[in-house]
Amino acid sequence: MEEIEMESKEKKGDTGQGEKSHQITSNKRIILIVLGAIVLALSVAVILLGYSLYSESTKPKLCLTDECIASADRIITSMNMSVDPCDNFYEFACGGYVDTHSYYERGYVDRFEELGDIISYRVLRIFDGGILPSMPETVKQAIEYYEKCIDEETQKKVGVEPMLNHIESLGLPRIPIQDDTAIEPSPWPQVLMKGEKLLAKTPFFLFLFEQLNETTHHFTWRAYSPAFYENLFRILLETFNDHLEGDGVDASRAAKELMDLEKKLEMARMVYPSEINERLMTVAELQAQSDLNITSDDPNRFDWSEFLTSYLENSVLKFDIEKDKILVKNPQVIKDTFEVLYNTPPETIELYTWFYYFYSMAPFTTPDLYEAFIATDIYSKLFGGPPKNLKKRCIYFARDIFHNAISYEYLERYFDKERKNKTEVIVEDIHQAFIQLVEGLDWMDEQTKTFAMEKVDAVKPNVGYPKWFFVPGALDERNFFMEDVRGDWLTMNINKFVVALKKYDPYKFKNDTNWFGMSKIEVNAFYVPKHVSIYLPAGILQAPFTGNGLASLNYGAIGAIIGHEFTHGFDKTGQKYDKNGKLNNWWSNETKENFNERVQCMIEQYSKFHFPELGPNVTLDGKKTINENIADNGGMREALIAYDLFKLRQVGNEKMGTEDLHDLQPDLPGLTNYTHKQLFFLGYANMWCQNPSPSILKLLLKWDVHSPGRVRVLGTLSNTKEFAEAWNCPTGSKMNPADKCVVW
Ligand SMILES: [Zn+2]
Repeated sequence: MEEIEMESKEKKGDTGQGEKSHQITSNKRIILIVLGAIVLALSVAVILLGYSLYSESTKPKLCLTDECIASADRIITSMNMSVDPCDNFYEFACGGYVDTHSYYERGYVDRFEELGDIISYRVLRIFDGGILPSMPETVKQAIEYYEKCIDEETQKKVGVEPMLNHIESLGLPRIPIQDDTAIEPSPWPQVLMKGEKLLAKTPFFLFLFEQLNETTHHFTWRAYSPAFYENLFRILLETFNDHLEGDGVDASRAAKELMDLEKKLEMARMVYPSEINERLMTVAELQAQSDLNITSDDPNRFDWSEFLTSYLENSVLKFDIEKDKILVKNPQVIKDTFEVLYNTPPETIELYTWFYYFYSMAPFTTPDLYEAFIATDIYSKLFGGPPKNLKKRCIYFARDIFHNAISYEYLERYFDKERKNKTEVIVEDIHQAFIQLVEGLDWMDEQTKTFAMEKVDAVKPNVGYPKWFFVPGALDERNFFMEDVRGDWLTMNINKFVVALKKYDPYKFKNDTNWFGMSKIEVNAFYVPKHVSIYLPAGILQAPFTGNGLASLNYGAIGAIIGHEFTHGFDKTGQKYDKNGKLNNWWSNETKENFNERVQCMIEQYSKFHFPELGPNVTLDGKKTINENIADNGGMREALIAYDLFKLRQVGNEKMGTEDLHDLQPDLPGLTNYTHKQLFFLGYANMWCQNPSPSILKLLLKWDVHSPGRVRVLGTLSNTKEFAEAWNCPTGSKMNPADKCVVW
């Protein structure tokens, strides 16, 4: 789902329970006692203050709800009040956070991670509580999957035997390279056909089925390889050999032979961007392209009709082999790949195919093979991968396929469903705010404004979870994995691939709001350009994003996030799509020029952000982060207007004044000397408090399209005149520069 914009960062790996757990526990206890004392002192002060203010009718009362007390505590302990808010608002709002939230454990900490950790921990508690009779079948199945995953004793006892039986059933030897010349390799096209059936995977190409609408569908063909490395062959095979009695695989010889073929395949797959020329082909055309290097009676000839007929058996996919077409991503690679395959000794292809299916199943057999697999997995090294801790890792796997089940059980226990309705009100306010923004633009001509307005109205908000989510029986009805993902640990995992690729029918519940298999308990928010839709999973509908006790804090936080997602529809990428999610230019040339000029201002402005802790010349890439910065800035302006709309409703005032509308809500304990408008900005900044280690910050600057939290606060607020007004920042101060960049 690469078109989806992510708000928070990728996970940075697991929290890894280290050996110093004693130290950590005792430290935590001290912190808790100290915090307890602070809270006690605070609440005494609050009660006293509350009493004295209550008696003065002119001043608003204090907000003493649980949410307000928690918000006050969070905001106060995050702040560094010795800093001038007009000089560095991030340091003012988050200096205390950076000082108290260590990055040592995993190199990074922020609000998204903190909340994500709580959710993960609660999920773990749900799973460890075992299956309850009242749970929907899907939830029971997810817990069963988890229990099989953590049961390493059984996995060790079962060993590699079932995997070897599967490999044998494909027509492959149980153990390859045994130099038994009496055994002829099975024709490899037959092996691939069987492998496809068993695991919905093949080693040399990737088939993806895409249902464009109810009647149009096609396959996409792409040359593919799992990117094998010599190291991976050797380590996995050596670990595997420990499970065998007698002769094992000659790991060095196998690694060499596999690497030779891998290199040739890699060469064949290499396409220069200028040569990419995707084409829709019939099956017959695909066949002709593959047959360029082989005679039709060769037993190793790959027959596409036969392969596809077998592929479509027992699946819900509809494809007419005579008429329907295949979208071939790189046509000339077909010829080159098959040329390599037809010129490679069948024994070598057999070894490669054997390794491929072994590699696909080995992580789901014994704990040591899982370890060997993960130790050599490049993806995991780069992106953290599954957590090391067994239980956390099993939750991670379970969440991948049973995200609906887990979201359901979590939300049943922990989510106040009223929160969904409350957020929908803010979404509507943001929608209205965007319309007002567009109406007021002086750089957009009327015609383009009309199109922009139509697009704003077309944005579909998806808040919390889909409508069907808590309808009795609906969850089980939509569980495509129900029948097949059963049995032992290996079988469950093999079948999950097959079900995901071949049994999932997107049109079975076509009236559902499509959540794209997104988890509902993720702490994140999304915009999908082609669907002109925003997604706010229930996971993010908690403090500090919303549920903060006061509208000022909620509009400053979740309001700005919702605005951010709305604005993605109008950033440098989003502006190319029309209200139907089609690539379509709805801009007049002049307005487009004005837009680009404003974008350029922001690119240059953000490129000036320095990171002195990383070196004298380290700056932000203003170009790479432009879409996110446009969204942050637009989101802030929309949130401000939306907050005004809230206040108007509050005072029942029909006309919109330019002066600061009065917020009738009570004050926040401990922060009574701040206005609600100031709290709005504190709520915004507080949600972006983060503490990355210098090395992670360096990586983020290199790879992340989002600006670091510090810049999200400093950049956005220094472009916001309402901020300067609220905090009385003199013109020319760092937070109120004379030159501001505004796109939306
Ligand atoms: Zn974004």
